[in-house]
Amino acid sequence: MIYIVSTGPGNSDSMSVEAINAIKECDVIVGYGKYIELIEPLIQDKMVFTTGMTKEVDRCRQALEISLTGKKVAMVSGGDAGVYGMGGIMQEIVLEMAPEIEVVVIPGITAANAAAAALGAPIVHDSVNISLSDLLTDIEVIKKRLHAAGTGDFITCIYNPKSKGRPHYIEMARDILLEYKKSETPVGIVKNARRDDQEVFITTLEKMCDVDIDMSTIVIVGNSDTFVKNGKMITPRGYRR
Ligand code: SAH
Repeated sequence: MIYIVSTGPGNSDSMSVEAINAIKECDVIVGYGKYIELIEPLIQDKMVFTTGMTKEVDRCRQALEISLTGKKVAMVSGGDAGVYGMGGIMQEIVLEMAPEIEVVVIPGITAANAAAAALGAPIVHDSVNISLSDLLTDIEVIKKRLHAAGTGDFITCIYNPKSKGRPHYIEMARDILLEYKKSETPVGIVKNARRDDQEVFITTLEKMCDVDIDMSTIVIVGNSDTFVKNGKMITPRGYRR
């Protein structure tokens, strides 16, 4: 049996009771080092295998091999495992190599939800998630999806906004969205959501790149109705009163 356990954006306070119980039940925990650190208190008596970023396929094979020895394994993944997380590749590998193994997926709070709560209520209406990482997605596809988000006036949650290898993609995303959205469109930026060092910024589409954005940051660009009042970023759903 393999559990794919979503560990939420921060420490174990942001995990579901079901996720915590699954981890308690497992003998072995497999995951990326940084997420494992965040849930350290939960896993002290467990066998833990950590691997670096970009070793996702190895990590999944390792989880599967251990589970084939009869142990209960939790593959942990930050935020929600099904949103740019390990949920997909883990299940693909099980289907390829040992489809008889039972896989249980436990959902979690994704960065967009955590950031939205810190900002106010920016994604109450139709929204999209776009990752600016081109490690697994062609940059032309990313650009096409940014244009589509702009055309559709979607609230746009930008994951993986910046890394050392591609510092300018966030400016490219801003420029594409500026073709469709007003320069004063509210933008919420949350760094390290639900962690001790959480930082929250509210700015505009035009000025968003003035904020120091990194890989622990999510950027939420509002739609044409989004407003800012008393330090809260809110997208109205349209209720009459
Ligand atoms: N599965 C994760 C996303 C992994 S992709 C989830 O559901 O949240 C990694 C990207 O997610 C980061 O580059 C960042 O954009 C975002 N992210 C993850 N955790 C975050 C946090 N605590 N605060 C802000 N952004 C976060």
